[in-house]
Amino acid sequence: MVQSEKPSLPDEFYIVGIDLGGTNMKIGVMDHNDQKVSFVTAPTLVEQGPEAATHRMAENVHKAIEQAGIKASQVVRVGLCSAGTMDIPGGMLVRPSNLPGWNFFPIRDKLAEYCGFPVTFANDATAAAFAEYWIGAGQNEPGLILLTLGTGVGCGIILEGHGWDGVHSHGGESGHNLIDVSENARWCKCGQRGHLEAYASATGVANRTVEMIEAELKSSLAPRVRAAARRDEVPKMVYEEAEKGDELALKIIAETARYLAYGAVTLMHTIDPSCILIGGAMTFGGSASPVGRMFLEKVKEETCKRVFLHLAQRIRFDYAKLGSDAGYIGAAGLARQAWMESLG
Ligand SMILES: [Zn+2]
Repeated sequence: MVQSEKPSLPDEFYIVGIDLGGTNMKIGVMDHNDQKVSFVTAPTLVEQGPEAATHRMAENVHKAIEQAGIKASQVVRVGLCSAGTMDIPGGMLVRPSNLPGWNFFPIRDKLAEYCGFPVTFANDATAAAFAEYWIGAGQNEPGLILLTLGTGVGCGIILEGHGWDGVHSHGGESGHNLIDVSENARWCKCGQRGHLEAYASATGVANRTVEMIEAELKSSLAPRVRAAARRDEVPKMVYEEAEKGDELALKIIAETARYLAYGAVTLMHTIDPSCILIGGAMTFGGSASPVGRMFLEKVKEETCKRVFLHLAQRIRFDYAKLGSDAGYIGAAGLARQAWMESLG
């Protein structure tokens, strides 16, 4: 009897990853050695609608392939990630928060038609988490959670090497975990009160800071925040003043860590991960800064004192490594995984 053999992988193959954001689309080509070989970016131009943008995406996929100096026939699959709400098995945007008006657009199949490659569709936070699992700060972690702190709080979950999308494509929406049940809890931008994102996102930090400086006369942060033209400049000011030792700024960062820990406690008791990574635009300097290291340590401390000792003794907290490249890298990684699984 002839035994069926597992098909061997080609010596050389390439995957294209795309991170479709509200402002830009980022497109990278990854090779068979998990290395990035080219990168292009183009404006999303949301107001021109999803058809025009998908055509532009397809053009830029081919531009990235050309820039990599490879043939289109060497590309085995494209991975695309974007923000929810979405229908992942259906390949459809539902009501994407950062792409207003692109409702119920069948983006996966349209992109496949326009670019000529099969497309794997994913949530952007899941893709970012997968990138960290694949080649970043969470390699070989059997249970990985990535929390990204930006305008919102994103969450990606990787269990035993696979992204967890949930049954209805919203399995990792932990930015909307309830952390404050009081009547006057902060409003989240989703329309509910008391969600993690309303406290620990950059928006939440800016809002809390603006309220806290009202009564502050001594803090070096107060005059800067009062003079700020835009609220989204505030988290960076908090970080800069904390670096100089301003007590109010340090207090705001420590409180942010505590709020984030409330969200992490629920995740720890639900998922039981081996590692929680923190990433996104607001990491208060990250591992390169004493303030960033204090923030991470504080998140761990505030989480661990609220979870089962058995879990507290085993969890690893760290910063994510891949920054704003994580989305397209992870989209490529998920496409690579889907392609390999399709080979049997
Ligand atoms: Zn919410």
